[in-house]
Amino acid sequence: MSINEEIASNLSVIEANICNACAKSGRDRSSVTLIAVSKTHPADVILEGYKLGLRSFGENKVQELSRKIEELPDSIQWHMIGHLQRNKVKYIAQKVTMIHSVDSLRLAETINKEAVEYDRVIPILIEVNMAGEESKFGVSPDETPGLIKSISGFPNISVKGLMTVAPNAPNPEDNRVVFSNLNKLSVDIANENIDNVTMNVLSMGMTGDYTIAIEEGATLVRIGTGLFGQRDYGHTLQ
Ligand SMILES: *Cc1c(COP(=O)(O)O)cnc(C)c1O
Repeated sequence: MSINEEIASNLSVIEANICNACAKSGRDRSSVTLIAVSKTHPADVILEGYKLGLRSFGENKVQELSRKIEELPDSIQWHMIGHLQRNKVKYIAQKVTMIHSVDSLRLAETINKEAVEYDRVIPILIEVNMAGEESKFGVSPDETPGLIKSISGFPNISVKGLMTVAPNAPNPEDNRVVFSNLNKLSVDIANENIDNVTMNVLSMGMTGDYTIAIEEGATLVRIGTGLFGQRDYGHTLQ
């Protein structure tokens, strides 16, 4: 199969799985957005996804993201899903659609400052380390409400919800509790009615576990391998 046939076939499987998971949990298909995680893949591969109708893409490295923003159609919505260093925010602040990986007040402060530069309000998610894994970024569930209250004071940032990277579980069912706990945390925070904060977005679920994440309330699923195939880090331009 050619690369475009492969992506088309993967996408139709993913689309069917998303529809099934929505039906199973009584949700509308339109409540879930597929973010095509295109990290390490070149522009021509991304364009194949674009031709199939995909418009939301996710990247985890600033340099790669800013280069792709330059190269690819303006109508693409770019999601920053990886760890973000404060000194690099300036390279993506103008165009990024949403930053999923905010996990400190200092980072939020920098994003706010850059957003002011470009006269925009940047939508963000708070990354929560639900399973307390040392290898992962994100704030603990306990710290999340307090961080959001502090961030809510920044006028050029809009907190839209929460994001998590679940553990790499051999059985995806093992992550169900991670997703349902993130959903509960989001409901608790929504109930606090914090000014300038909405909790309508839950970014959770990757190739191995996105159907379970949808059953537990995901509104954004981030799928890379399942769509584009295995990543070849050896050929990545950094
Ligand atoms: C790479 C990545 C994904 C996609 O992972 P796959 O298992 O390839 O679907 C999702 N979220 C984040 C934060 C990532 O870095």
